[in-house]
Order: sequence, then structure tokens, then C-alpha cells
Amino acid sequence: TIGKIFELTVKKFPNKDALYDVRKNVRYTYKEWNDQVNRLANALLKEGVKKGDRVSTFMFNTEELGTAFFACAKIGAIFNPINFRLTPEEVAYILADATPKVVLFEKSLEPVVSAIANRFDKISFWFIDEEKPEYAASYQEKLGSASTEEVQIDVNENDVYAFIYTSGTTGRPKGVMHTHRNMVDQSLLCVAAQKIEAEDVGLVTAPMFHCAELHCAFLPRVQIGAKNVILHQFNPKAILSLIENEKISRFFAAPTMWNMLLQEDLNQYDLSSLKQGLYGAAPMAPSLVHALHDSLGISLIQAYGMTEMGPAITFLSEYDQLRKAGSAGQAALNHDIRIVRTTEGGPSDPDDLMPAGETGEIIVKGPCMMVGYFNREEATENALYKGWYHSGDIGYLDEDGFLFVNDRVDDMIISGGENIYPREVEDALHAHPGVLDVAIVGQPDDRWGETVSAFVVKKDPNVTEQELDEFCKNSDSLANYKRPRKYIFCDALPRNASGKIQKFVLRKQLEELFTPKKS
Ligand code: AMP
Ligand code: MG
Repeated sequence: TIGKIFELTVKKFPNKDALYDVRKNVRYTYKEWNDQVNRLANALLKEGVKKGDRVSTFMFNTEELGTAFFACAKIGAIFNPINFRLTPEEVAYILADATPKVVLFEKSLEPVVSAIANRFDKISFWFIDEEKPEYAASYQEKLGSASTEEVQIDVNENDVYAFIYTSGTTGRPKGVMHTHRNMVDQSLLCVAAQKIEAEDVGLVTAPMFHCAELHCAFLPRVQIGAKNVILHQFNPKAILSLIENEKISRFFAAPTMWNMLLQEDLNQYDLSSLKQGLYGAAPMAPSLVHALHDSLGISLIQAYGMTEMGPAITFLSEYDQLRKAGSAGQAALNHDIRIVRTTEGGPSDPDDLMPAGETGEIIVKGPCMMVGYFNREEATENALYKGWYHSGDIGYLDEDGFLFVNDRVDDMIISGGENIYPREVEDALHAHPGVLDVAIVGQPDDRWGETVSAFVVKKDPNVTEQELDEFCKNSDSLANYKRPRKYIFCDALPRNASGKIQKFVLRKQLEELFTPKKS
């Protein structure tokens, strides 16, 4: 169980540095952190939280979120970290669905909570900062009077350990249920893929509510007894200073975060402690992989996956970064990945395999697969049809078994009967030195069905549409029909907290921009 992972590390390294919370300037050894975890575990028990009850967190990256993660694990409560970007109504939807007993939240999100708290009279809200609002209890007070004794609760490896709500760009968010066993297996895979060591100092900068950070970076480092430095929110300059001052050796970031780091003056910092970077959660253009490799000179690892699978299902190792740039890597240990023919209006048949090099839906089986979506039988049946998780991602396997992820099924563009994967066009444009960021979406078109439109964030303010069009025309990786027919320049792309471009927002913008207004 996850509780056991923590217990073993505490026994092994009681006096080793466990974490540093930058926001509160708090540092714990593993023994001190364990005391804090036990205080919270006992305080939750005192509140009446029983095994199987939910406990939610609603905060940016904090020590308290990490503490809640292990405290819940020890008492068998189900941990439910909520996305800090959500609106009051979205949070209310999740609280109504997950029905937690306790919600821990932080000061900066108080306005969101105060807008909905009165609808949930069965929930006890605990405020982790100073000067709690009237409707909440003080986390500090609850813990102040709680014991540091180990709790005695029988938690089984097959018990559900968390509900993690999916980003829900398509429909209402769904609570992905994972067991302790799932996450112990995921943690082990991640330790091995990254070769994490007790001497490592990891930086937590991607959102901890998202499983890429929580399960692929934070948890495996605790498992090995490494130290975690917790940064409240992503901030390129703060990250670079922390690498220098805290001797950070590794961290995970989404491609867009890495891209922002590269825009800083790296020579101003001593980054010599940094050994490895993990990236994933969204596609990274090969040109960015090369740029990272060249300017940081560290080993890089990519993870590809999804909340439902724990998340990582493939890794692209440090050895294959340049040789196979653009690929998401090979199946993780004990994972089976297939590419199958997509079917209209229903889950694809797991046995209708596509040959190597041909695209289809990515489906997968493995030890970290979710038990299902909470309270959503039909959605669960479709997602886990015939025992395979249907990702909704389109991709192919090359002759060597390396996976290439093209796009989401729903984002594929069909123009003049030809399939266009936005990612190919995005990767091509990313290679232009004047382009900082780019997203490709399809726009409905009477003649072609759809045409290709490009949203571009400029790095060089003088870049023109004509220049980018010429660049695409001369690109040997881009057929003519894939060339964007429209360019929209913008200051930033809409992304969710885990770094994924919200294409539905862009499609809506296109519609508003180019539909003639009826008066
Ligand atoms: P989530 O469930 O929020 O973790 O999102 C999962 C989705 O993110 C996948 O289905 C992919 O579309 C995308 N994704 C995650 N990792 C990668 C990656 N390394 N490369 C490309 N897309 C990725
Ligand atoms: Mg998903």
C-alpha cells in the first residue's frame, strides 16, 4: 500500500531531509514529516472519517497536499485532489459527485470555496492558512491537538486509494478510481525509468493534483527516500534559482513549461546539480527536445500516458531522445500496447490490429489500469471495453515498437477526405525560430469539409504570415494539403493546468472570428 511505501522510507531514513515547502519556508526530515502525517491521520479519524470516505484537497502545490496524500493512505480514506484552476461550479460538481467528508483548502482559493460552501453542510472545510473564514475549521488547530501515534487501520492493496478527476475537456469530469496496488506498481515503474536515488533532490512544480506530478515524480521520490522541494506555482525564474540554491537534481514539467524555461537567461544560474528532466502530459515537438538537450545538457526522459492508466504507459529513455525524437517511447514493463482500427460510434475492437507504421486508436493493458470511473458504469464499460483501456489517442507503432502519438481522435482534421494530424503541422511550425508556441485546429469549410488553421504565439515579433507559409511550403515533412490556410496570431494559447492546449476553446474562437455576424 502507499502507507507502507511511506512507512518503509521513514524507517530507513528518519533523519534525512524529506521536504522543503518554499511557500511556508518549512523543512521536514522524514521523521518530522511522518509526525505531521500521523497528526493529520489522527485528526481525520477524530473528525469521523472512516476507511473508504473521501477527503479532498483544493490547493496549489503545498506540503499539506503531500501530507494529506499519505495521511489518507494510512487510514484508508480516499484521496481526492481537486484542480485549482476550476471554477466554483466545477468544484461544486466534483464535491457533489465525490461527497467528501473533509475538504482541505488554501487561502488563495478561498473565494472559490466561499461561493459554494453553503451548499455542502455535510462537508467539513479545513483552512490550511492563517485567519480562517467563518465557515471553515483551522487545519493548524485540528492538527495541534492530534497525536503523532501511528494509526492502526487495516488497509488492503486492492482498496481504492484515490479519485482523480479527469480534465473533462469532453463532457463532465469523471472520478478515476485507482487502488493502492496500482500506484505502488506505477511508482516502481517510475523509479526504474528515471533511476531515482536517495541522494536526489526533486522539484515539484507541475500541479500535484495531476497524476503526472503526483505519481511519476513526487511519489517515486518518496519511495526511494529522496527529497522533494515543493514550489507553490510554476515560475521559471523561481525554478532556476531553486535549482541553484537547493541543488535540484531532477523535475517533471510539461513541454510548455520547459519551453518557457528555455526563454530565460540560463547562463545567470548555476544549474550544475541538474541531472535529469522528465517531460510529458502533452506532445513535445522534436525541435524542442533538441533545444532542451543542447541548452541544458541533461538527460531527458519522456512519459506518455493518461490519468486512467496511472498515468505512464510508455517511456522514451535518455538513450533514444534524439534517435527517436517525436516518439513517446516503448511500453512500460508489463504493459501491452496495441494500435487498432477506430470504429464510428463505439469502442474499437481490441483484436482489429493495424500493422506497424499504420495509425489507429492506442489501446493499452497494464497493472496500473484504473478500476473504473466512480458512479459511471456506462463510461467505464466503454473505456475498458474487453479489458483494454481505450485512450482516444491516435498513433502508430514503428518497426522497433516505438509509439508515436499523433493526436486525440476528436482533434483530427479531415480536409478533402485526407486525414491531417494537427501535431504534424504543429511540430513543423515549432521548428521555425520565430515561433514560440503553436496550435492547429480544423475549421469547418463548405468545399473541403475542414481546413487547417494555425494559432501562433510569436517569439520574434516580426514574423509574418507569408514567412510561415513559405516555411511550410518548403518543409519536406509537410504535404501541401496540410499547410495552414489561416494564421491567427495571439499572445498565449489556452492551456489547462497540466499543460494541454484546450482546442475546444480555439475552435470556438475560430467560429466567433469567422462566422459573419447576423444582425
Ligand atoms: P490526462 O488524462 O489528463 O492525464 O491526459 C491524458 C492525455 O494527455 C493523453 O490521452 C494524451 O492525449 C495526452 N498526453 C499525455 N502524455 C503525452 C505525451 N508524452 N505525448 C503526447 N500526448 C500526451
Ligand atoms: Mg483523458
